[in-house]
Amino acid sequence: MTDSNDPLAHCRGRFFLPEGVIYLDGNSLGPMAKNVPGVMKTAIEDEWATGLITSWNKADWWGLPLRLGDRIARLIGGDEGTCVVTDTTSINIFKALNLACNLRPDRNIVIAEQDSFPTDLYIAQGLADINRHIELRLIGVGGATLDDLLDDKVAAVLLSHVDYRTGALLDMAGLTQKIHQAGAVAIWDLCHTAGVFPVDLQGANVDLAVGCTYKYLNGGPGAPAFIYANKRHHQNLVQPLTGWWGHAEPFAFKPDFAAAPGIRALLCGTQPILSMRALEAALDVFDDVDMRAVREQSKALTTLFADLVMASCADYGVKLLSPQNAAARGSQIALAHENGFQIMQALIARGVIGDFRQPNIMRFGFSPLYLQPEDVRIAAKILTDILATREWEQEIYSQRNAVT
Ligand SMILES: *Cc1c(COP(=O)(O)O)cnc(C)c1O
Repeated sequence: MTDSNDPLAHCRGRFFLPEGVIYLDGNSLGPMAKNVPGVMKTAIEDEWATGLITSWNKADWWGLPLRLGDRIARLIGGDEGTCVVTDTTSINIFKALNLACNLRPDRNIVIAEQDSFPTDLYIAQGLADINRHIELRLIGVGGATLDDLLDDKVAAVLLSHVDYRTGALLDMAGLTQKIHQAGAVAIWDLCHTAGVFPVDLQGANVDLAVGCTYKYLNGGPGAPAFIYANKRHHQNLVQPLTGWWGHAEPFAFKPDFAAAPGIRALLCGTQPILSMRALEAALDVFDDVDMRAVREQSKALTTLFADLVMASCADYGVKLLSPQNAAARGSQIALAHENGFQIMQALIARGVIGDFRQPNIMRFGFSPLYLQPEDVRIAAKILTDILATREWEQEIYSQRNAVT
């Protein structure tokens, strides 16, 4: 693979990337697209400062959640009108779990993954705390598998498509089918999927899905999340956060809640419009991008990095934690090393930005929109150098910040 036959090479110029930085942390916070500042200037000066309240209509701020939802739906294989951008992933997981339990009123078990991103688990615990009849079963506790836990009491199963630590990828279509055979509702967390992997929610017959927009979709810090609901559930989109944005007639100001038809029912209250405008600009980058090409290039980049690192760093105690086979992982490589924290700090000091996850994991995310094979080669070389010279042993690399 050479850089010249990278079908996505033209996308790189669409992002701000500081000189000397190789950014392998787009799985945590995507970089800023170059058209964002211009759109933000318009949003602030023309729409907010000048248009004031008229911008809800004139700039169609009101329509942003559905408009952005449709653009994301295209990237994750959803139909028009099946996805909205709103709230946070954590809040949307709460809505999705509650909705799933409502779809299966005669069942009371929710299955989640012990090793999932903690917020997924915390939210499931919170739901069980306020709905005393709901019980949690966790994949991974005592070695339990999904097969062990699925039975006719299970209402909902919440799974992460790509594991946030190891990058391991689950078989969405196959597992959704299995969950349906057991009569349960399948909810997929796409935080490490959207923007870098061409999932087909409709084709896989997924019931509900949620995900972030500030990771591989590059929406910016704190950009609102998305929630997807398959059309076949649109008659029953009951959610607990029945705010006025989800009302059938929000400006009738009626005393009783009546859900809006369709996906709008999953909205709650006033949305962060400025963040949504930034996300809207960031999504422009994807307009002419073929997600299958993104996936092919993503596999090539992670394979190149894993191969180079394992060839030159295994002797220094680095272990590959991600699946060996590119088809079995998302767009990240996780490496284990007992001094992973210090090594990552030394890497960041040298301009190779990844992140660290407890207990000993160095995470590297690869977005083919702005990364090319040459970046991967340089990053692997710097990592090798840091290990060979034991540069990471310097005192400053042991200091911990609030955010890792
Ligand atoms: C990043 C991430 C989240 C983040 O949730 P927020 O509510 O946006 O803070 C949730 N779940 C997974 C799997 C993630 O990777």
